Amino acid sequence: MKPPCFIYLYDAAKTDKLEVGKIANYLKRKLGKARLIIRDDFLVHHLSRLPSSRKEERVDFLARKLADIRIRQINEREFSKPLPAEVEYEKRNLLNPESKAFGILYEGFKLAALLGRLVPKGELSLECCHIAFTNQLFGTWDQNNHRYHARVSIYSFPSLISTVGLVEAPAKPKEFYLRRQLGSDAIVLKEEFKGRFIDYEDPRLTEVMKGYLLQALFFHMTGDPFCKDENCRLYNAHWQEEVIHAQLETPHELCKSHQAILHSLLSFPP
Ligand SMILES: [Zn+2]
Repeated sequence: MKPPCFIYLYDAAKTDKLEVGKIANYLKRKLGKARLIIRDDFLVHHLSRLPSSRKEERVDFLARKLADIRIRQINEREFSKPLPAEVEYEKRNLLNPESKAFGILYEGFKLAALLGRLVPKGELSLECCHIAFTNQLFGTWDQNNHRYHARVSIYSFPSLISTVGLVEAPAKPKEFYLRRQLGSDAIVLKEEFKGRFIDYEDPRLTEVMKGYLLQALFFHMTGDPFCKDENCRLYNAHWQEEVIHAQLETPHELCKSHQAILHSLLSFPP
């Protein structure tokens, strides 16, 4: 395995708190030789390459498939046949990406596989790493407690990283939920617990996302995005406070073992 020659970053997060240019410069410093290419929203970019006749057929296909992979019940693994109105809704969003609505949870690996079908042949090799930022929420099935959980990221081809997932998926401090159950107001609680979780439009978003980019790259290069060390940026955090610790508070970005892996990968001849 060796580092990719081209890294495509897709910016659909639609928030100025995510500075993709800064993240690209950070990766350039880490990876040296790789070329970083920043693109628009993944779907917008790849649909815009198609001639209008094929685009229409592709939009219809994607709308059907997106409606298919919606998670309707958090504790039901099976997918049901979508209603025509749901397909129409997806179609409208595909044709007007600015109107993208929140609140829908897609199955993450199916979503990544669907998006991967849009990548042209010339960009399908392991030399190309595609990482898409999105404001879409996605989840995966948890075998242990038999329900879907929202996720920050899906490491696949392409890898998907959700800014909404970063806020919604890792759990806030336990006391937050306890106080909420006891009737405390959510807005008051958010103010009280401020800083202990990543919120929407959080000024720390760019810095935190650098770690998720590293996870996507390690997945691409080694097949394993995660580390067991909670002081390493590759730590698979399930709590907001673990995210903040691993991404913002540790003295070294990567643990010794991952520093060594990165070093050996970078010394590979091109
Ligand atoms: Zn590590």
